[in-house]
Amino acid sequence: MPNMSLEKNKMPHQDPNVRNKNFQEVALGYTLEQAKDEAERCLQCKHKPCVGGCPVAIDIPAFIQKIKEEDLEGAYEIINRSSSLPAVCGRVCPQETQCEARCVRGIKGEPVAIGRLERFVADWHRLNVEKEPTLAPKNGHKVAVIGAGPAGLTCAGDLAKAGCEVTVFEALHVAGGVLVYGIPEFRLPKAIVHDEIDKLKKIGVTIETNTVVGKAVSIDELFEEGYEAVFVGSGAGLPRFMGIPGENFNGVFSANEFLTRINLMKAYREDAPTPVHHGKNVAVVGGGNVAMDAARCAKRLGAENVYIVYRRSLDEMPARKEEVEHAMEEGIIFKVLCNPVEIMGNENKFVSGLKCVEMELGEPDESGRRKPVVKENSEFLLDVDCVIMSIGTSPNPLIKNTTKGLETNRHGCIVTEESGLTSREGVYAGGDAVTGAATVILAMGAGKNAAHSILEYLKNKE
Ligand code: FAD
Ligand code: SF4
Ligand code: SF4
Repeated sequence: MPNMSLEKNKMPHQDPNVRNKNFQEVALGYTLEQAKDEAERCLQCKHKPCVGGCPVAIDIPAFIQKIKEEDLEGAYEIINRSSSLPAVCGRVCPQETQCEARCVRGIKGEPVAIGRLERFVADWHRLNVEKEPTLAPKNGHKVAVIGAGPAGLTCAGDLAKAGCEVTVFEALHVAGGVLVYGIPEFRLPKAIVHDEIDKLKKIGVTIETNTVVGKAVSIDELFEEGYEAVFVGSGAGLPRFMGIPGENFNGVFSANEFLTRINLMKAYREDAPTPVHHGKNVAVVGGGNVAMDAARCAKRLGAENVYIVYRRSLDEMPARKEEVEHAMEEGIIFKVLCNPVEIMGNENKFVSGLKCVEMELGEPDESGRRKPVVKENSEFLLDVDCVIMSIGTSPNPLIKNTTKGLETNRHGCIVTEESGLTSREGVYAGGDAVTGAATVILAMGAGKNAAHSILEYLKNKE
């Protein structure tokens, strides 16, 4: 008999008042009993609606059935056929708008906790199975991948599994992209990402870190060096600012810089080489996942008051609901329907306040969301000494500017066909570099799709 409970099995969490002072993982994962009980909620629907909501089409009922049978390695193998980063996606995928949004159990009550089950299986595999990877026979083709984020790593993995000699060129000193420099440790422990990268190295992928393509080497030079195809997965890491007065004061950060200092340079540790300046009172401008991450990090660094300043209402906030709830539990203060107009500074050019106006929602704009309009005579000053801008990012124009014939759109995103092929023969692209800031699973899906197209291209060349 299936478990007909209307609610998901709850995930154990660190207490909010404890976790807002440490960087350890917030959600602690299911036990085997909880996972099996949750698996019993799945009705094994014949037409599998949940699979249609997963961008990489994991056979969800099949892996859940294996959990019911306590065949956890069997469950892992089913997930791994479609996803190379299950421990990552089980944690950070916006499941509520993807697989779980299509689950029939969600019609009356909560959907099956597909993401939590995926995480459970991937963690079990990581801790219990040590398999030596098998090296594929070489097919004689050489491919370059630019960027070691989820798009580049997935593409590199699939090409290596098909026998290509693959080199990933990464600008930073570590591989992982946003998974290591953006998403904080308390949401995604870095050991998980490093494990996945080690697996790729074991199947023959070479990763050249500290190599900025467009400066150290160009795409044209990579072709001259004998690479037959190139995949661009360089992400969208160029931060946007509002263009309001005061953005040059000390104590104003982009969320990307702030999070990179914390995640990659471990600025929260007492022995950190470059501790991050964080204020006593911090305003984070924006309402996405990145804004929640920055605010929760600021709180953990010891700020007394951390404000999310967002110009629409809570209902329009693009961040995952779970992340908003976690931020609220941890004491982040939400100033919604509020927009900054000027950053104030003192005589030493440090931030001394944030001038804001109140907003109200008007008619829907082209995105379908009600447009925020300024309320008359509503100006007020927020007492802060640090402002973190988290209002979006775009792709860095470096690769476009150094590659002949590479077409981009007006947002600076690389234009591709469905296959991932760009306007330049042999050059494919995917992930945030093509879509603008999106999600891990979409970037992985794009990397997979491009790897498939590159293999076809190489076969046709033969
Ligand atoms: P990236 O992950 O950005 O990787 C691109 C890589 O290319 C980087 O390592 C970069 O250093 C490298 N690179 C750039 N230019 C060059 C160059 N010229 N030469 C060599 N290397 C280069 N998504 C979710 O699904 N769930 C979440 O909860 C979530 N939270 C997020 C939180 C934060 C703080 C951020 C910033 C993003 C979050 N996202 C989340 C979005 C998600 O992480 C991205 O959509 C995803 O990482 C995109 O993958 P990518 O491989 O295209 O790019
Ligand atoms: Fe759901 Fe993401 Fe897993 Fe697909 S990869 S099943 S969308 S959690
Ligand atoms: Fe199970 Fe829900 Fe998928 Fe049906 S839709 S197979 S109940 S996870």
